[in-house]
Amino acid sequence: MALKILLVEPEFPIPPKSKNHRNFLPIGLLKLASYYRELGDSVKLIRGNKTEKEIRRSGNERWWIPDKIMITSLFTYWAGYVRDSVAHYRKLYPDARIIVGGVYASLMPDHCKKYTKCDEVFVGVHKGAEKSFPAYDLIENNPHPLDYQIVRTSRGCIRNCEFCGVKKIESRFKANANIKTEIIHRKLVFYDDNLLANPHIQKILSELIELKSKKQILWCEAQSGFDGKILKEKPYLAEMIKKAGFHYPRIAWDWGYEQHHEIKEQLDLLIDAGYRSKDLFVFMLYNWDIPFGEMERKRLKCWEWQVQIADCRYRPLDKIYDGYDSKKRKQTGREYHIQKESGWTDKLIRTFRSNVRKQNICLRQNTKYYSADMERKRISKDMTNEYKKLSYEEAKGYLKDAWNPAVIHYT
Ligand code: SF4
Repeated sequence: MALKILLVEPEFPIPPKSKNHRNFLPIGLLKLASYYRELGDSVKLIRGNKTEKEIRRSGNERWWIPDKIMITSLFTYWAGYVRDSVAHYRKLYPDARIIVGGVYASLMPDHCKKYTKCDEVFVGVHKGAEKSFPAYDLIENNPHPLDYQIVRTSRGCIRNCEFCGVKKIESRFKANANIKTEIIHRKLVFYDDNLLANPHIQKILSELIELKSKKQILWCEAQSGFDGKILKEKPYLAEMIKKAGFHYPRIAWDWGYEQHHEIKEQLDLLIDAGYRSKDLFVFMLYNWDIPFGEMERKRLKCWEWQVQIADCRYRPLDKIYDGYDSKKRKQTGREYHIQKESGWTDKLIRTFRSNVRKQNICLRQNTKYYSADMERKRISKDMTNEYKKLSYEEAKGYLKDAWNPAVIHYT
């Protein structure tokens, strides 16, 4: 008997304009949708906690009562949104079986069962759905049309970084040999946890280069960045990455300052392949085991190299809340995780985030210093163009808020 299945993305705190952004597309639900459709079931995708009327409106059927509700989860610290969705849909459809899957469910299944009060927790990857092509037609085109496609050539990772949950969800590394046949869009976003670890990466990049040369693809993006160690072992990959059209490549600098020679060598491979330094990103985890002062020295190195920083605030894998609010001036460790053991404080966390932001703006705008007055256009366009030519030492004579990226800032 055909089932009616409601696929739900909880009311995650994603701004409406970013809902269809490539970082937030509920790709697992889209694959499940295809899988169940192939089995002859009726599916609906709902994003957020909607009323029965709104759910009915999203289809032609007058009465549509789901038999099964599948709710996805993401970061553990968004567990509260999952719990709210379970409660919401339980109230709407008391007879439906509610299953929660996804990242939080897989990392903390027992907690998920008790905390959300769902009927079942699905751990890991749904093998049947994994092979299905995502049902992109279920994504509403507003506010932005979906003009890209998510691709995965592998699952899992060959490494086991202590702050990362990938190994816990996917213990074995599995890879595909080609992707050419599944490409339908000209913009490709790779969701691989470690794309370069795919043993067939050379073949895959060759396929992409061919598609790019025939203008069948426009650009590619590796959402998790590139493994710099593999790049170092196989330096020829850098040129292939560039030719395949990967934009804004990122490599991670997870450990201490002393790694800087190694990181620079990895960046140089990408620069030699034709990337501009300011289009490269170094991924950095802060509020973690590396203290603030050392993180600042790492930031200064990135300024010296003129590469941007993609910063990520650390939250432990089992944290089920994160009340950090960038608009607030002050918060406590009760509201969000502060890695006090390494000397981090609320103030230092906000300072580091702000320093990185200002430095990245300098790089993007080709200036030697940052000025909020310039950024917020409180200065005329002509004057801004003149000031942009100045060094920090010269600029501080004209702009009271000139900020120098080349020194450590504790406030
Ligand atoms: S290399 Fe990346 S994906 Fe792999 S375990 Fe480390 S952080 Fe996770």
